[in-house]
Amino acid sequence: MEHTVQKATVLGIVLVLIFGLAPLAVGAPSELRYVVIITIDGCRPDKLQEANTPNIDALIAQGAAYSWSAQTVYPSKTPQAHASLFTGAKPETHGFYSPGDDLKAETIFQVFENLGMRTLLFDSKGGRINGLQADVAVVRNTKDYRWIGPSWQRGSEDPEANLRVMEDALEDFMEGWITLMFVLLPQTDTMGHLYGHTSEQYLKAIETADQAIGMLVDNLRARGWLDETLIVITADHGMTGTDHGTDDPGDMTIPLIFFGPNVPPGEFGNGEIIDVAPTISALFGVRPPADSEGRILFEGREPAGEIPTVAVAGVTVAAAIIIVIALRRRL
Ligand SMILES: [Zn+2]
Repeated sequence: MEHTVQKATVLGIVLVLIFGLAPLAVGAPSELRYVVIITIDGCRPDKLQEANTPNIDALIAQGAAYSWSAQTVYPSKTPQAHASLFTGAKPETHGFYSPGDDLKAETIFQVFENLGMRTLLFDSKGGRINGLQADVAVVRNTKDYRWIGPSWQRGSEDPEANLRVMEDALEDFMEGWITLMFVLLPQTDTMGHLYGHTSEQYLKAIETADQAIGMLVDNLRARGWLDETLIVITADHGMTGTDHGTDDPGDMTIPLIFFGPNVPPGEFGNGEIIDVAPTISALFGVRPPADSEGRILFEGREPAGEIPTVAVAGVTVAAAIIIVIALRRRL
């Protein structure tokens, strides 16, 4: 009797130790609570690499997944590309080509809102993506910045525009009740149209976008949210000279960066803008938008700092067998 009690107690303690400590030993992934999607409007990945971007570089050094050869949709323009970003659908499917068009596909905002999570969409280009905001809880549609307007003129642009947009977006987001936020940083596109993609001004606008991203990261870190947030950085299209819209690689190629829990680190080669919504859905554990045609990126790649589940299970079973054999011999 005494032996049976002892045996059961020892076995109990051993099992608690194995199953209780195993997840700690492999570094259980943090829970994903927030998603922030940023487009650096009109940002070419080759110029992003050339620019001085310490904040984006730090995300990559800390384990972001990134591609410098991702592709947007044709025609490579702001409204249809954002519609594809939010729906995972191609323009032929979502039918959104100009502001105010009738969107024929479900957005990732609607997926989150239908599950009771609040979303924010910040269209800082004065309505260029007007029509994509259905069911979004907070819509910022700001026309009163000086970098864009009916008459774009050299010298009238606001060099701090990207920073102001992020500052305004964070005012809402840091209240903590928004799960998914989208922010459009517009200045790269403006400077590209005014001065061309090889200009100093265009490069500088990428650098202020990086500073805006640094502002976001600093806020998340200070609040203790950085480990619980998925940050996605991309562009709607590139830029060739002072324009875009064609199927030229300069217009079609965009950067694509994912940083957050369960994102496998390193460069990947073949992402598309329509892959963003289904990939976010998969990482967050919700269904993709209904009309999504994109792929889930990184399937089959293990996230950083984690041992494959099969290995964990194998080690646990082996340890249990050894302990049971040892107990049977002793008792
Ligand atoms: Zn443009």
